[in-house]
This record gives sequence, structure tokens and C-alpha cells, in this order.
Amino acid sequence: MTLTGLFGGTFNPIHRGHLRAAEEVRKYLPLDRILFIPSYIPPHKDQKEVVSAWHRLRMVEIACKPHAGFIASDLEVKNPGPSYSIVTLKRLKKLYPQDLFFFIVGSDAFLEIETWKDYARLIQECSFVIVKRPGWALEQLNKVIEKIKPERVVEMIKKAEIKTENYTRTGLYLIDIDGLNISSSEIRRRLQAGLPVDGLVPPGVEEYILKNHLYY
Ligand code: ATP
Ligand code: MG
Repeated sequence: MTLTGLFGGTFNPIHRGHLRAAEEVRKYLPLDRILFIPSYIPPHKDQKEVVSAWHRLRMVEIACKPHAGFIASDLEVKNPGPSYSIVTLKRLKKLYPQDLFFFIVGSDAFLEIETWKDYARLIQECSFVIVKRPGWALEQLNKVIEKIKPERVVEMIKKAEIKTENYTRTGLYLIDIDGLNISSSEIRRRLQAGLPVDGLVPPGVEEYILKNHLYY
């Protein structure tokens, strides 16, 4: 059985906060791989600010390369139209019927889960790993969790607390990670203002942004 993490996002651009979140998740859950899946059209974002899906995918590829088990996925990018997680998950289940899927999201994103297409089905189709994003305490999620009634909630404390054979197909895993306070919006703002972004994105991504004059 393969344990596969799914990390979806606009990744406009991918930054060190995303990478840190994925690294931290692997300290708690023995995921065999994490697919980073840039959306083609993010349903909830202002499209004017979003650069081409191919640029975003390329930056994800550059960022994932040094990390074993981090894989850039073109699944949404090559399926034009709004990208819905429920559709992506169904495709992945067909492609990899033996896998157990863990959908990774930041606490800010999970607060809005009720706006996602078919969210009630989505939480019955895979597990969710919710990582704390600086500024969005996990306690803030209590109301949403009460409302959506997941099958089970596990607050992860230490690595391998749960044995692999006991992972279930659904459930919420809450992880209080040591995250980085970085956002793509802040990076775009800095680039527009002519400020440097080194330290916020991996060096190869910074190079790609500057070479292609993205965001400014
Ligand atoms: P934007 O500012 O444009 O919204 P972002 O930095 O929030 O960009 P997204 O592509 O929107 O990045 O996020 C994709 C996923 O990564 C979401 O689940 C989000 O919660 C999570 N995420 C983004 N940044 C962080 C971070 N610094 N720490 C933890 N999770 C993060
Ligand atoms: Mg965001």
C-alpha cells in the first residue's frame, strides 16, 4: 500500500512555506510521496493575478527536484477549466487504485472547506492533513469540524504514533507544525515593489521568476 500525500494549491508562486509544510507532514506521517498539484484555474482566486499554469508547474518542478518523494504533478494543469479537488481525487483513485490518499492543506484553507465543490463527499473519499499556518491557530477550526462531522479526528503529536496498518481511508489529522510565515501574495507584492524575494522561495524558483519577468 502506498501512502500518497496530495498538496494542491495555486502555487503562484510556490514558496518555502509550502515546502516546510510538506517536510513537517512527513515527520508525522510516513507518506511514501507527496504530489504537488498546481491548479489550472483556481476556483476561488482573482484570475488577473494568477500567472500561466505552465509557469506555476515549472516552478513547482524546480522546487520539488531536490526533495526525494516530492513530485510535481501536471494532473490539473493538463485538464483545462476550473480545478476541483473532488475531480482530481477521482482521477487519482483511478490511476492509483491501491493508494491511500492524504490531502494536505493549511489551516487557513481548511477554514473555507465548505466553499469547496462537493466537500462533504471529498472528506469521505480521503483523509485530510491540516497543518497550522502561522496566524491561523488550529483551534479556529473547531467550529468547522463540528459542522462537517468527519469520521474521526486525530491530533498528531509525534511521529508514527499510528501504525501504518491502522490508517483509515478518511479522517482529519491535525498537525501543529513549526511553519514559516510566507505567502505567495506577499512574494508578488514584493516583486511588484522591486524588493528581493531570496529566502522566501528556493533559489531556482527566484531565478525562474526573474528570468521570465513574472509578477512585475
Ligand atoms: P496566496 O497568498 O496567493 O493565497 P498562498 O501562500 O496562500 O498564496 P496557496 O497556493 O494559496 O499559497 O496555498 C496552497 C496550500 O498551501 C493551501 O492549503 C495553504 O493553506 C497552504 N499554505 C500556503 N502557505 C503556507 C504556509 N506558509 N504554511 C503552511 N501552509 C501553507
Ligand atoms: Mg492562499
